[in-house]
Order: sequence, then C-alpha cells, then structure tokens
Amino acid sequence: MNSNVLKNEDITENIIAFKLTKSYKENMTETELYDITRGCWGVNLERAQSVDYAFSVYKDTIKEVYKIEEWLPAEKLQRTTLPDAEVPEGTYGFKGKIAEKEIRDKYKGKSVKNLCKPGQYNFKYLPLPSSQNHVPNKDEIINKEKSVINQVIEEVQKIEEEITSLNIDEESKKAIVNVRINQGKFRDLLLKRYKNKCCLCGVKNPKFLIASHIKPWAESETKEKSDVNNGFLMCPNHDKLFDKGYITFDDDGKIIISDRLTENNRVFLNVDSKMHIELTLTEGNKKYLKFHRENIFNR
Ligand SMILES: [Zn+2]
Repeated sequence: MNSNVLKNEDITENIIAFKLTKSYKENMTETELYDITRGCWGVNLERAQSVDYAFSVYKDTIKEVYKIEEWLPAEKLQRTTLPDAEVPEGTYGFKGKIAEKEIRDKYKGKSVKNLCKPGQYNFKYLPLPSSQNHVPNKDEIINKEKSVINQVIEEVQKIEEEITSLNIDEESKKAIVNVRINQGKFRDLLLKRYKNKCCLCGVKNPKFLIASHIKPWAESETKEKSDVNNGFLMCPNHDKLFDKGYITFDDDGKIIISDRLTENNRVFLNVDSKMHIELTLTEGNKKYLKFHRENIFNR
C-alpha cells in the first residue's frame, strides 16, 4: 500500500468502521478511545457477529483497530470511562482488544475517505473486494444473502423428501437427518457464525463440530429447519447433552443443567453452572430456546 488512503482492495478482513464525532478528543487515553468506539450502536446483531475487526474512525482517519471478541447488549458493556453514558434500548457494543500488530499496522493512521462516503453514517461495514475491484451494491448483497437462504431451504426440502420416502423408525430418521445436515449449507452457516468453535466450550476442531437444531427437526416447519437462528454449533459432548435435554439455556445464554446430571457426571461431561453461549443470543435463538426449555429440557 503506497498511499495513506485505503482502497477497497486493501481490505482483507471483515471490518466495521465506527465514526466518532464530538466524543473524540485528541489525547484521550487508550481506554477512553476503546470505550467510545465499542458502544452503543444500533447494529443488527447477526450482521455484526460476522465481523472480525472494528475501526475507530475520526475525520476519515483510522485512530485505532480492534479485534472484536463478542457483542453484548449495551447495558452489559461496563464501559468504565463512561459510567453515566446513556444506553439506548436495543443497542449493542463489542468487547475486544487492540488488533494484533500485523493488522493494526496495516490500517492504523490510514484514511477511509474512499470507502466511507462522507455524510451521515455512524458505522459502516467495509465490503471485502469480492471480484476484481467490484464493490457489491446493497441489492447484490441482499441477493447473495437470499440465495444462501434459498440454498438452505432447498437442502432442507431434499432431506425432508428423502426421509418421507424411507420406511424406517423415528430414531433412524433422526440419524440420517443429522448426517445430511452436517454435510450441508446449514452447518456452513453455523461454522461461520460461531467461528469454527463449539458455542459453549470453544472446542475448535471443525471435524468434531456438530450443527444441531434447537427446536428439533421433527417438530420444526421447513422454514424453522432452515433458519440459522435455530441452530447451535457444538462439540459432540455438548451436542448430546443438549439434544437429550440434560442442558438448556436461558435468554441470556446462561446454561441450565438438569438435576438428572450428578456432580460426578457434570465433571466428566464438562458442564458447569458458569458456562454460557459464547455469542449474544439473537431474538430468533431466544424463540427456539423457549421451545427447548419447555419441551426438550428434562424430558
Ligand atoms: Zn463443547
């Protein structure tokens, strides 16, 4: 990069740029800058969760680069330098740290004036250059998202057809569904959302990770079967416990453990009451989890 002005093709990470205005001051401390950058924003949680880095931008210049670890509802942010800040309802903020040197050096101090058109934006997702210098417009992004959703629906319909054509018992059907689901797009979406990790314990090897439905396949409509909000990505251990109703989660993503699991089992199966889902739950997650708590947990 010769110029100090970033071009679309310079962007190689998934980034959200936050524009700071009056709240920015020269000579702010590191923590003050971090706190005003990370919240509170009216982002779409699902979209935001697909982003890896955040830019702190003031007057077109990138003041700092953060690696995002998780998004939280704004009221849980605990911004120590802004104890009295107003927290608008339904907004979110991130927890993270200053990006690793390589990424930080690449972007810090550069200008985003060619990427973020001047005007009224508070935050902006910086598009990755998809194909030679082509910056997808809003319609293209929406169409791409739609086509992924359609692919998942198609995949689900295929599995449904296959299952109804088979004259086998429910347990065997379930086994086939699990295999099919874990070969397809639904799992790809969950791998992306949970960054290739068990959403509960962080086990990382994608070979082990299982895509499972929160509201079970057999009880879901086609639309629910293909809804990524109805899925968790888990290691085999936690997947089994969740599937069999030994564990579930409250609306904050905190684990609820069945009394049927003895202390001894809890140790061996790696569950304890401090665990929670790594990502902040979406409204969709909460809807399906309600079903799980009422119909699967402890049954
Ligand atoms: Zn796990």
